[in-house]
Amino acid sequence: MDNLNEYLGGRIIKTTDLKPETLMYLQNCGGEIVAATFKKNDKLFCRRCLMEIKKLPIKFQYCRNCINLGKIQIDEQLLITPTNLNFPQQEDYLVWDGQLTTNQTKGVRELILAFQQHCDHLVWAVTGAGKTEMIFPLIEQVLQQGQRIAICSPRVDVCIELFPRIQKVFPKTTVGLFHGRSEEPYHLTQIMLATVHQLIRFEKAFDVLVIDEVDSYPLAGNQMLHHAIKKAKKDVGMIVYLSATPPKELLTQVKQQKISITRLYQRFHGHPLPEPHCHLLLKPTQFWKINPRLRLLLKRLIKTKQRFMLFFPQIPAMKQFAKQLKKLYPLLTFVDVSSKDDQRLEKVQQFREQKVQGILTTTILERGVTFKKIMVIVLDAQAKEFSKTALIQIAGRAGRGKDSYDDQVHFYYQAYNQQIRLACDEIRYLNQQAKK
Ligand SMILES: [Zn+2]
Repeated sequence: MDNLNEYLGGRIIKTTDLKPETLMYLQNCGGEIVAATFKKNDKLFCRRCLMEIKKLPIKFQYCRNCINLGKIQIDEQLLITPTNLNFPQQEDYLVWDGQLTTNQTKGVRELILAFQQHCDHLVWAVTGAGKTEMIFPLIEQVLQQGQRIAICSPRVDVCIELFPRIQKVFPKTTVGLFHGRSEEPYHLTQIMLATVHQLIRFEKAFDVLVIDEVDSYPLAGNQMLHHAIKKAKKDVGMIVYLSATPPKELLTQVKQQKISITRLYQRFHGHPLPEPHCHLLLKPTQFWKINPRLRLLLKRLIKTKQRFMLFFPQIPAMKQFAKQLKKLYPLLTFVDVSSKDDQRLEKVQQFREQKVQGILTTTILERGVTFKKIMVIVLDAQAKEFSKTALIQIAGRAGRGKDSYDDQVHFYYQAYNQQIRLACDEIRYLNQQAKK
């Protein structure tokens, strides 16, 4: 028989994808066979992604919404695999000798209270507040009760960065990392790290779901992914949302007291968020290949060996700039990364290990990455790609180390717009709140 571990735990699998003996065994363990679709208000919906199936002008109708996870035809059957699982009891779960700040400790208390009351909870923590450490005690509680937890982010880089940290502090617990590009096939683990997309494959599988970076692409405004989160949770369970820039909808739910909230305005080292320096460029970034004002900045960076992150709104502009940079300053070492770059992870690692002085990037690195002693520079900050949220997240890449809390942030633009103003205002507001 197949390795059953690869199926257990609330997975939604097409019955035709299973060998008959495996199917029978999973059914005997409590697996449930269901139709691939259901009707509501005369409309047809997909059981896996919960989205409406629109009629196509072909013979065999299927769900187009979740086609990336494999085709489901409307007359098929699905197996929801068993979730009545037993995980081994351990003496100790969390092995971590770090210390939480007073603010973090208060947050942990609020989180655990929400867990006990099965109430969804939002943690609004500024960038660099140490929200990951805050969920350690929550994970420990979940494990102690023999329950199962998933920690998900819309962004694969965030999952990959989080995985070794979780593995390290829960050394005896099974931890899995699953995303569209992972080579490891799914198997049952008590802690699962995954992209939010993977949740589409689950139904009532997790007691607790932690959704990191809830405001980021592609989760923001994506109905299918929001359905997937709710569907993957057991009936009695909780969802924890983590964000430095929470979306309006969640804050509205907090106001309506549908979910509880922890506010963490202070960074773990107790220093304020670096406030951006704003610079109006009268000529475009590419003026004379590289705008002379930017050249002055670059020369200063090279002279002082200051490490830097340079953000661009789009890949072509970044590539063009990289070319000029190489020509003008052949001794400067740097890498450039984007969502289309297969070597992104390796390049980011090179920068982290200080093998290069600078990194040129699109908004792909706006969040989820931590570097120390860096200057953060945004070019064409007025571009539509730089939303208020993106600018706040980008500025939050600076000042993350205890010994480099005052890293500088610079916004360069050709027009001061609403987004730049709102981002700067919010950073100032958060710093004021942290003082209270
Ligand atoms: Zn579907």
